[in-house]
Amino acid sequence: MASSPTEIAEGVWRITRGFPLRINVFFVREGDGVAVFDAGHKPMGAAVRAAADGLGGATRLILGNPHADHRGGAAAVGAPIHCHADDRANVEGDGGAHDFDFGLLPFFVRGVTRKTFSAWDCGPLPVAGTLAEGDRVGAFEVVHLPGHSPGCIGLWRASDRLAITNDCFALFHPVLPLPGRHPRVPHPAFNWSTERCAESIAKLAALEPATCWPAHYGPLTGDVAARLRAAI
Ligand SMILES: [Zn+2]
Repeated sequence: MASSPTEIAEGVWRITRGFPLRINVFFVREGDGVAVFDAGHKPMGAAVRAAADGLGGATRLILGNPHADHRGGAAAVGAPIHCHADDRANVEGDGGAHDFDFGLLPFFVRGVTRKTFSAWDCGPLPVAGTLAEGDRVGAFEVVHLPGHSPGCIGLWRASDRLAITNDCFALFHPVLPLPGRHPRVPHPAFNWSTERCAESIAKLAALEPATCWPAHYGPLTGDVAARLRAAI
């Protein structure tokens, strides 16, 4: 079935949808159900809901960042929404779109990118609870990785050094978007602070992850810390 999730590690599943940008949504065992990490864009909301239901149901939906490609499916998922406190206003507001600067993109993709983002969004969402560095999500803990958005977060599991990294770094060409082999700082057109992005990539590298699963493409494996440091 197209909606069956792939198990990527013990107690962690993923579905991937979207064109041209591939979007990953993750499911982390939490009690009898799963915490859903990101909701993808609006067109994949129903598939995210179906995948969560097949894994025991969504305990909550955690948004790693508030942008349309991460929150757009949230209304269809129908679970209580949690995010980092620093992104609460964005989740309940314009999804962080006020931080975008489409003028930094090449002229030929500006219009289509702006339109695509608004078609992907589901609009403002109520936040049921906020998360902070170190909070538990199943066997993982929250890591604050500000930059792409002020409350950008990842999930970290020390036992197998697995990081689910949202948009801390990008593993694709910033404009086209085509998958790339090397991690990069996310494109400044979509960042709250590109300087803070670089600091958060260094923070992620310091954890010495074995595997990073970003929100688009991936995973990043091999000498992960060195590859991340090379990006900055
Ligand atoms: Zn994204």
